[in-house]
Amino acid sequence: MVYINVAVCLSVLLFVIGLSVGLSMNTFKGRNALDLAPLIDGHNDLPDNLYNKLHNDLRTFRFEDDLSNDDVWGRTACPTCFTDLPRLSKGKVGGQFWVAYAPCESQYKDAIQLTLRQIDVIRRLIQRYPNNLQLVTAAGDIETTWRSGKIASMIGVEGGHSLDSSLAVLRLYYDLGVRYVTLTHGCNTPWADASPVNEGNVYNLTEFGQTIIYEMNRIGMLVDLSHTSHNVMREVLAITKAPVMFSHSSAFSICNNYRNVPDDILQLVKKNNGIVMVNFYNNFVNCNDSKNATMEDVIKHINHIRNLIGPDHVGIGADYDGISIMPVGLEDVSKYPDLFDRLYESQKGEPTWTKEDLEKLAGRNFIRVLQAAEAVRDSLSSESPREDIITANELYVAQKNEGLTPGSCQTALEWDQLKTTDEVSNLSTTMETITKPEAS
Ligand SMILES: [Zn+2]
Repeated sequence: MVYINVAVCLSVLLFVIGLSVGLSMNTFKGRNALDLAPLIDGHNDLPDNLYNKLHNDLRTFRFEDDLSNDDVWGRTACPTCFTDLPRLSKGKVGGQFWVAYAPCESQYKDAIQLTLRQIDVIRRLIQRYPNNLQLVTAAGDIETTWRSGKIASMIGVEGGHSLDSSLAVLRLYYDLGVRYVTLTHGCNTPWADASPVNEGNVYNLTEFGQTIIYEMNRIGMLVDLSHTSHNVMREVLAITKAPVMFSHSSAFSICNNYRNVPDDILQLVKKNNGIVMVNFYNNFVNCNDSKNATMEDVIKHINHIRNLIGPDHVGIGADYDGISIMPVGLEDVSKYPDLFDRLYESQKGEPTWTKEDLEKLAGRNFIRVLQAAEAVRDSLSSESPREDIITANELYVAQKNEGLTPGSCQTALEWDQLKTTDEVSNLSTTMETITKPEAS
């Protein structure tokens, strides 16, 4: 009798387990992965909109409202505005890099001051919404912050010109909470070339550029290779000790825009254990100007990267608020769940995304990359800070190439080392004609 009872109980138990497994199999949607792992977006330019529209004065900014139809922030009034708390919540965003960006025009002028303003406004925005946002500077805090119902808010500096070629500035940005620096924006720095240089070289990555990479590795600052020339990507990947990130770039072989990552570099990213966070911007996902990009175009990029180097090196870096045209189906920050639903319902010829793969894409890959950068930092903790300064001659050549009067806005001691200007002029490289870079 006991055996029969046990058998009956076991059968019932197995039936219930089977039913619940069956139910969860049947009802699982791609978006449910965003309840299992935080969705971390690598790049949102809302702070730039706060600067342009409000001069960073947050008193009238109602981030808690759906701003889709707002007189200032709505789609009609603001073509680059896609972000507010209700839509971030609908979009299941669990982690966000808010971008501190100063335009290239500020290079050799007030780039540092403008960048500091943007770091400040990000920190003030986070403080203003303590129930929704929390500043996060460590990989281990991303998931706990997200589980407490807040968006893990991280800071990225977009553009190496914001360093003004100073390791001291780099270190202090880290102390302020910055966790990635994009080596260039659309303009070359004196030590690294930007994407408009394409496959060519103006400076490529100079010796001082290598020192910057070394110091970023040493302090745990992630190297962001979005916006750099393809050769700089290759040079950095050859020397970095930590995994790199592309905070907002897509696949070059799908859309031949030099802001995107070519296949040979994707292979290097796999070897480096890094991550490419896919940009949604129309002009980067669909090179055909005659038609609007759609979510399907973005999926082609995600699947291409996955097919080539696997599901461990791809993430999302949509670039909302940095550009004005987003693909049909991904119109604002509320739309990420639709993308995950669609990936899970893979079509013929597409890779199969498991629940675990989608969790990696959402945020686990990025968390792994930041953790690895922290481990490299810890392994280098006995090393001293680098004391190098860039030479006045390098600055002179770079500023001359930009059509500026070298040294006219600088008073630092290194300018005392400048050789006679005639001598240095001869060092000036011939700039190839470079088209005006796209923003974003
Ligand atoms: Zn950008």
